[in-house]
Amino acid sequence: MQEVNKNIMITCPHCGTEYFPCEIFYPKDFFGNITNVVRDESGKIISWSGTDMNLEEEFICEHCGKTFKTKAYINFETEKVEEDTDTVTITF
Ligand SMILES: [Zn+2]
Repeated sequence: MQEVNKNIMITCPHCGTEYFPCEIFYPKDFFGNITNVVRDESGKIISWSGTDMNLEEEFICEHCGKTFKTKAYINFETEKVEEDTDTVTITF
């Protein structure tokens, strides 16, 4: 059995039943579906169409039958990856 990462578990506030996020959130709704992203010359987003991320979900607990809401808080970190200048890339 794999170890459960408690930090990403969703717990029913009524009965304590644990859920994985993928049991409650719909991936397409969670991440959204953005198309036609337009950026200015510096890379900043000017406009887009579609639906943004939906980080809130209402769920009926499969154990106790009561409804609860859950909300995800997400941060994205980025860091530079330095390219290895010694590597020679050969394209075939
Ligand atoms: Zn419950």
